Amino acid sequence: RKGNVIITGASSGLGLATAKALAETGKWNVIMACRNFLKAEKAAKAVGIPKENYTVMHLDLASLESVRQFVDTFRHSGMPLDVLVCNAAVYLPTAKEPTFTAEGFELSVGTNHLGHFLLSRLLLDDLTKSEYPQRRLIIVGSITGNTNTLAGNVPPKANLGDLRGLAGGLNGLGSSSMIDGGEFDGAKAYKDSKVCNMLTMQEFHKRYHEETGITFASLYPGCIAETGLFREHIPLFRILFPPFQKYITKGYVSEEEAGKRLAKVVSDPTLSKSGVYWSWNKNSSSFENQLSKEASDKEKARKLWEVSEKLVGLA
Ligand code: NDP
Repeated sequence: RKGNVIITGASSGLGLATAKALAETGKWNVIMACRNFLKAEKAAKAVGIPKENYTVMHLDLASLESVRQFVDTFRHSGMPLDVLVCNAAVYLPTAKEPTFTAEGFELSVGTNHLGHFLLSRLLLDDLTKSEYPQRRLIIVGSITGNTNTLAGNVPPKANLGDLRGLAGGLNGLGSSSMIDGGEFDGAKAYKDSKVCNMLTMQEFHKRYHEETGITFASLYPGCIAETGLFREHIPLFRILFPPFQKYITKGYVSEEEAGKRLAKVVSDPTLSKSGVYWSWNKNSSSFENQLSKEASDKEKARKLWEVSEKLVGLA
C-alpha cells in the first residue's frame, strides 16, 4: 500500500514543496493539514499534485481544540499513520506587541511548539500502531540551533532561560509572553520556538525510540528565502534577503530543493537514524549536524516536555 504522511502547513513554502515531491513518487498519500482549506486545495492544484495522492484536512495549530478535532477527523478516516511532519510555523519579526492563540499562549511558541507538541503526542499512538516498515516523526528545526554558523549567532539569539515565562502560561498577563520571562521580541520568540522543536524531537527519541522503533528526526533544510515565512517582514528585507542568502551566506536553497530534502527525511532508507538533526552541505549531501549547547541540553528537554504537557492539558 501507499504510505500515509501528514504534513502540517502544506499550503505553502517547504510543506507544499515536500507534499509535491512525495506525491509525485506515487508511493505516498499526503494528508495536507492546513488552517486554510481552500488555500491548500488551490495550492495543491496549482503545483500539480495528482489528486489521488493527497487529502486536505483542517488543522489550526493556534487552537488546541482544533488540534484535537484534527486527530479525531484523521482517525475517522480509517487511514493508518506512517509519518508525521511538523512543518507549519509563524514568524512575526516586526510585531511590537505579542498576539495569542485561542488558549492565550504567545502566538509563535503557541503555534510552532505547543500546537505541534499536542499533535505529535496524540498521534504517537497512531504511529505506534502502523505496520509500515519505516515510521517517522519529523519536526522541522532551524539554524538557530547551530552555533557553528553565522546565522545561528545573529541577535536576538534564542534563549529559553529557566522556562519561567512558559511555566507561567506564556500569556502576557500574569506571566511574560516569552519563554525566558523577558520582554516580548517577535524574532526571538520564533527562534525560541525552533529550539523547542529540536528539544522535543530529542526527548521523543529518548522516551520512545527504543520502545516503538519510530524514527524521530529534525532538520535544517537550508535558507528558503522566498517562502511566505518572511511575509511579515519589512519590504526592503524581503527584497534583499534572497540575494543576500544566495551570494553572501550561500545558504540559499530553492523551495523545490528544500522540499526534496525534507522528502528524503520522510522516505529515504539511508536517513532512518533516530535522534538526528539533518543538514546539507554546499554540494547538497546530507550530514548529521551538531546542535547548539542549549538545543541539546537534556535537562532542558525534559523540563520543556513536562511544562508543555501541563499547558496543553496532557498532565
Ligand atoms: P511558509 O510561511 O511558506 O509556510 C508556513 C506554513 O505554516 C503555511 O502553510 C501556513 O499556513 C502554516 N501555518 C501557519 N500558522 C498555522 C496554524 N496556526 N495552523 C496551521 N498551519 C499554520 O514558511 P516556510 O515554508 O518557510 O516554513 C516551513 C517550515 O520551515 C517552518 O517550520 C520554518 O520554521 C522552517 N524553516 C524555514 C526556513 C526558511 O528559510 N524559510 C529556514 C529554516 C526552517 P497558511 O498558508 O495558511 O499561511
